[in-house]
Amino acid sequence: MAYSALGPRVLLRRLREVMAEPDTAQKRLDKIATLIASNMVAEVCSIYVMRPGQVLELYATEGLKRAAVHKSKLKVGEGLVGLIGDQAIGLNLADAQNHPSFKYLPETGEEIYHSFLGSPIMRGGTVIGVLVVQNRTRRHYSDEEEEALQTTAMVLAEVIASGELREVAREVAADVAHMRSHHLRGESLAEGIALGHVVLHEPRVAVHNLIAESIPLEKKRLDEAVQQLHLQVDQLLDGTESLRGADYSDVLETIRMFAHDKGWVNRLGEAVDTGLTAEAAVERVQNDNRARMMRTPDPYLRERMHDLDDLSNRLMRILTGAVATASRGDLPANAIIVSRNMGPAELLDYDRNKIRGVILEEGGKTSHVAIVARALGIPAVGQATGLIDLVDTGSPIVIDGNTGELFVRPSQDLQKSYAEKVRFYARKQAQYAVLRDVPAVTKDGVKINLNINAGLIVDLPHLHDSGADGVGLYRTELHFMMASRFPRLTSQVRHYKAILDQANGKPVVFRTLDIGADKSLPYLRQPREDNPALGWRSIRMALDRPALLRLQVRSLLIAGQGHDLKIMFPMIADVDEYLRARDIVELEKAYLLARGHELPKSLQLGVMIEIPALIWQLDQLLPLIDFASVGSNDLVQFLFASDRGNPKLTGRYDPLSPAALGAMRLIVEKAKAHNKPVTLCGELGGRPLEAMGLLGIGLISVSMVPSGIGPVKAMLLELDQAKLWSFMAPLLKSPAHSIRGDLLEFAQRNGVPV
Ligand code: PEP
Ligand code: MG
Repeated sequence: MAYSALGPRVLLRRLREVMAEPDTAQKRLDKIATLIASNMVAEVCSIYVMRPGQVLELYATEGLKRAAVHKSKLKVGEGLVGLIGDQAIGLNLADAQNHPSFKYLPETGEEIYHSFLGSPIMRGGTVIGVLVVQNRTRRHYSDEEEEALQTTAMVLAEVIASGELREVAREVAADVAHMRSHHLRGESLAEGIALGHVVLHEPRVAVHNLIAESIPLEKKRLDEAVQQLHLQVDQLLDGTESLRGADYSDVLETIRMFAHDKGWVNRLGEAVDTGLTAEAAVERVQNDNRARMMRTPDPYLRERMHDLDDLSNRLMRILTGAVATASRGDLPANAIIVSRNMGPAELLDYDRNKIRGVILEEGGKTSHVAIVARALGIPAVGQATGLIDLVDTGSPIVIDGNTGELFVRPSQDLQKSYAEKVRFYARKQAQYAVLRDVPAVTKDGVKINLNINAGLIVDLPHLHDSGADGVGLYRTELHFMMASRFPRLTSQVRHYKAILDQANGKPVVFRTLDIGADKSLPYLRQPREDNPALGWRSIRMALDRPALLRLQVRSLLIAGQGHDLKIMFPMIADVDEYLRARDIVELEKAYLLARGHELPKSLQLGVMIEIPALIWQLDQLLPLIDFASVGSNDLVQFLFASDRGNPKLTGRYDPLSPAALGAMRLIVEKAKAHNKPVTLCGELGGRPLEAMGLLGIGLISVSMVPSGIGPVKAMLLELDQAKLWSFMAPLLKSPAHSIRGDLLEFAQRNGVPV
């Protein structure tokens, strides 16, 4: 018996009529069961609704004994219906009674029916019911019939979730939410602990209007939306809108491939042909995709299906006009933002007072979004694989940024223990606060210069609360990344002046614009590159387009009037690049003097040592500069040829290795020989054990995330630097992959808190 292609269309039209009638929920379900049975030429149609306690209760039937309604109940996992409820998958069986999961319910009289077609009724990723049709003959239902049943299940989900049964659906959602706790381990990106509620950065869109009034009209809406989607994806790829990590470009490529994939677009069109609205068609095809995603064991394929899911969400937002990201909507208090990935500017879009944490499914420790999270002082965890499938906006969650652990829907006990941890953390911070005015001097009398890294005006209060000596790295690009267009001279001057004023006489090292690779400006077109980290970025771009650097230097010189100004150039690869950058400063000084401007009280120029080649030019470079700073995030990335933002490489090479420490030791020695101050401003400096290793190789100045100052100071107060160096010197000659364990042992043996 061939199922007519018009079948679902007729069925949906009739369903709409049923839904418009003023019936009770029960009556409506009864009518729907009868309708489906007759439309699908099935002898039986049954609707099971999930009840609290993970029980599927027969709510309506055509064909089974009526007396079984509200009596027949199957626990999730029990029988075929329970199997569908448990795994959220459809079943198509010609001989159901021989299936290992079959469970005979005598009160239903179903023993005479052999073939079985069932579909989960899903809402927001949760199974809220099961829809089944059965026939006497042993037959395999066609693909069209399967699809028709899935479409009907979608409409039923709306009936259950919006009518009188709403309370049941809500209880079930709460119940499932309560029952399913999850513990995930990601990677710590920013320290701190918080309890709060999930806010999906890209909210899911709920579709209420499912059945089309006019199919041609819905087709037109779909076509227009798909065209708009193509445009959006192309723009993303051009980089004009890309604020995410460099590793995101592969994802974008896949997304573009799907967006142009005829198969996907055709399936959407076919779903509209069955009588669904355009948005319901997207949801319908997305549900299929999700079901396949759950069944696919291949992690690569699952990833690609995730990409398709992203794309469907985009299309859904175009169709419904829903907000693109949660930062534009109302945020609850204690919001913990959950996203697959995110750029720094996207995080900065949020109201900082309301967010308690950030969790990313991707994203590594040195990605800029992690740096921004640390600057904002909010805990962040990356590499939380699979989290988005487990949560919805509002799900309670605990984020432990110290260990990278996440607890979805934590138990009462766990919540209590974490609330205690939060208090403990606050007490620890209070202890560090006591150290604020204690001089940072090691046990053997070496004064260590402690500085903070900053990039936002909101960072500056940390300079004073932490008792740091100055700002060792001011990342000027963050101001540029937050702006909607290039900040003009007046805007830049105002910004730098505010920083210098707030620093209140403490030194600030302004690093010139460091964009490219994973830091892009929304308004700056950058060419697509195969290797952006090794590409046209930072000082390279600045020297090729000197107008930008000139404007920035001019702004800094004006803002620096009456101050001691320090300017540092990033990503310098050779002496010549530094000289060219210095020439620009000279040009700007002359420009301002010629116009009667006053210059800063003093001006010092420095470079970041981030590119290994520079290590072999230190004898030529150091006499020409006033100071240097090791950018260990990039230096380590280039030393090991290991992308700092690639999650697959996270932790593969250790900065506490003889190679990395040896290279840094060389820099420290050269700087000493040339009598030039050197500091280190990579993320390493803020972690006590790593910072200890750095002091061990003779570094006496570090710049770090503000929250690192307390723990690092507590560490160095107990450290004998000379003793550590005697311990480390032979280790640097060892073939070890890492000397982390040795350093830890040293710390423990000598009572150094790390
Ligand atoms: C670094 O590379 O270590 C550094 C401090 O610069 P950024 O992290 O901004 O690239
Ligand atoms: Mg860098």
